[in-house]
Amino acid sequence: MERTLAIIKPDAVAAGVVGKILSRVEAAGFTIRALKLVHLSKRQAEGFYQVHRERPFFQDLTTFMSSGPAVPLLLERENAIAAWRELMGATNPAQAAEGTLRKEFATDIEKNAVHGSDSPATAAYEIAFFFSALDVCPRD
Ligand code: ATP
Ligand code: MG
Repeated sequence: MERTLAIIKPDAVAAGVVGKILSRVEAAGFTIRALKLVHLSKRQAEGFYQVHRERPFFQDLTTFMSSGPAVPLLLERENAIAAWRELMGATNPAQAAEGTLRKEFATDIEKNAVHGSDSPATAAYEIAFFFSALDVCPRD
């Protein structure tokens, strides 16, 4: 079993599609181990996206991510990191495959509805960023 950190981003929460996205999470065989609704401050969003601090879109991205509540999720599944990224689709929804979450719910390359960790090391950092041990439900 592998764990990944997913986020339903502020654009998708504002659009009222949290329930639809959670249905897709469950239908794809992920187990939700932790979940919350959180409105990040700008500084917190900058901390979360530290790896992108030199990228030209860093300011816009962190302003967007702190524009409203978001839903971080700790997901567990076999091959969870790659499987979640496949379900999300390409970063730019114009390039996202049919049937992916970004194809269906994203607006543009910035407001792209969902986030997913990109490696085991990133997943560990991102999970710990949002969830403490007490927030995580153990397996049955
Ligand atoms: P995420 O990390 O959110 O799962 P990703 O791994 O597909 O997405 P990254 O390259 O890590 O893409 O970029 C992080 C986020 O920064 C993207 O999801 C998007 O919201 C934003 N972003 C990426 N590229 C651009 C760009 N060229 N212009 C504006 N925003 C961008
Ligand atoms: Mg990424």
